[in-house]
Amino acid sequence: MTREAVGLGMTSQRTRARMVDRLREQGIRDEGVLAALGAVPRHLFVEEALASRAYEDTALPLGFAQTISQPFVVARMIEILREGRNGLGKTLEIGAGCGYQAAVLAQLTKDVYAVERIGSLLNRARLNMRAIQQFRVRLKHADGQLGLPEAAPFDTIIVAAAAQSVPPALLQQLALGGRMLLPLGSEDQYLTLIERCADVYVETRLDGVRFVPLLSGLVNEKE
Ligand code: SAH
Repeated sequence: MTREAVGLGMTSQRTRARMVDRLREQGIRDEGVLAALGAVPRHLFVEEALASRAYEDTALPLGFAQTISQPFVVARMIEILREGRNGLGKTLEIGAGCGYQAAVLAQLTKDVYAVERIGSLLNRARLNMRAIQQFRVRLKHADGQLGLPEAAPFDTIIVAAAAQSVPPALLQQLALGGRMLLPLGSEDQYLTLIERCADVYVETRLDGVRFVPLLSGLVNEKE
């Protein structure tokens, strides 16, 4: 490794540690979640021109009118999903984008599946996983409204795009005792937690949020 590369790595580690301190100040309490965000080099997931802004607590453009999620929102969602439980178990992420949140999830549980409808973003997610040597995340080009029946049921489902209503396939693919967190709504969106106890689904409305919409069908264009 060149001296420059080592320098850059150290700078990014320090900046990332500051990001984690800020998340703690903003109220993230789960040290496991904070450690996971501290371990994933977010600058590798954003376009080079934006890398210097990678550790600001803000969503950044990914192209294709999509964004990489804000660190606080990633931390908050995973914290809610872990609260009072023994780990996340088998986890499905809908809307992988370039793979940042999936990489954070992979720090916390060994079984992570992530689906993305835009083919070129999914390819970028694959390259990013390779770049950080994260080989545990199973990425699939698929419409997440249908879930991922071949790998169901899931103990945890996390949705990174806002739906108008809860996709029924996701309810079916939630394991007994499982938890799903998704943004619901269009103009006014709220994080909604759904917990499955036998065939009863308990829904709780949480924080107001702003996500890109959950859309149907696949996009195949290549970069
Ligand atoms: N998880 C990403 C956030 C990406 S933004 C991160 O960590 O940064 C949300 C993503 O959801 C977009 O890439 C969008 O293409 C994708 N998406 C929207 N509707 C979808 C659907 N039905 N199935 C799969 N992905 C979807």
